[in-house]
Amino acid sequence: MNALAAEIAGIIRADGPMPVSRYMALCLGHPRHGYYMTRDPFGQGGDFTTAPEISQMFGELIGLWAAHLWQAMGAPARLRLIELGPGRGTLMADMLRATRIVPGFREAISVHLVETSPALRQRQAAALAGADPVWHDDVASALEGPVILVANEFLDALPLDQFVMTAEGWRERLVGLEENGELAFGLAVGPETALRLAAPAGAVFEQPSVALDIVAQVAGHVAAEGGAALFIDYGSVRSGFGDTLQAMRKHSFVDPLSQPGEADLTVHVDFERMGQAALKAGAALHGPASQHDFLLALGLAQRAQALSLEADVSQRAAISAAFDRLTASGETGMGELFKVLALSYRNLPPLPGFDLHRLPDQG
Ligand code: SAH
Repeated sequence: MNALAAEIAGIIRADGPMPVSRYMALCLGHPRHGYYMTRDPFGQGGDFTTAPEISQMFGELIGLWAAHLWQAMGAPARLRLIELGPGRGTLMADMLRATRIVPGFREAISVHLVETSPALRQRQAAALAGADPVWHDDVASALEGPVILVANEFLDALPLDQFVMTAEGWRERLVGLEENGELAFGLAVGPETALRLAAPAGAVFEQPSVALDIVAQVAGHVAAEGGAALFIDYGSVRSGFGDTLQAMRKHSFVDPLSQPGEADLTVHVDFERMGQAALKAGAALHGPASQHDFLLALGLAQRAQALSLEADVSQRAAISAAFDRLTASGETGMGELFKVLALSYRNLPPLPGFDLHRLPDQG
């Protein structure tokens, strides 16, 4: 049992079993032992790889997306370019580099980063030296005036609660202790009478309150102040039941309870509910599109070809491998697993990336 598991066991002995959201929040954000707080988890030698770490093309296309949007907004003189959960700062660095060619854009924007991890803030400062970023502890303090906001693999790291349908109705799934003192999942004693959703026995309902709240905040802000937000994550276009909590260490799945704070804990994003929350807050929706459709509509194929022209043989192979990884379907590719949802104020024309391509069940 590691130090964080021992601390969590102590809390459970004192206060009783804890909601899944509290367990996730401790694993990811505990000031001393939290997964993101101390380490740089990305890349080959780390636990997982994200799209901006796979290829510079990802950030470049999103940068041009943002610059196009700024022009469509009438090129406001001041605009906050915000990223939520910037990791190593790679996405923002690629966005800024690609947009150097857009007259006036760099002068108009200021860079704002929402990041809780001191270790990753340091990485971001190194990657973005010269861009003069401002860091925020939470989304609310970053939102001011017209904004363009991006968040890649951010919503999947936010704590959620889980409920299981039993013969007595919905009961909350909790993290408690086995007789032998090990962490174990269990169910709350009493049923959750406020939850009135019909479902078959054994169904798991996930309540991503923190993510819904952030999406609603961002949506309300862009609806009132202007701008748009891009959320990219793995998840589903339609709501459904199921336990999506997963832990990843060194590029393999592990038991979410076995090494708290040492494995990345994530959940799948329910884009249908995120979209509903955004609509309710007054924003217009674009998508969700699959990452494959979004990146191809933004010109990924042309960008890969242009880079290949200046590349040697091994670089060309790397560009082609990155293109495949970003767009392929199936379990190993990111093209269909990952979805892209944009929110904006109401009188924007269709946003690039969403105008041509629709997921099959989007009608
Ligand atoms: N967007 C990056 C990193 C994704 S990992 C990429 O695509 O490579 C998730 C990021 O969100 C990390 O930077 C992590 O420290 C940050 N994060 C996780 N929970 C957070 C929270 N509650 N508030 C702010 N940042 C958070």
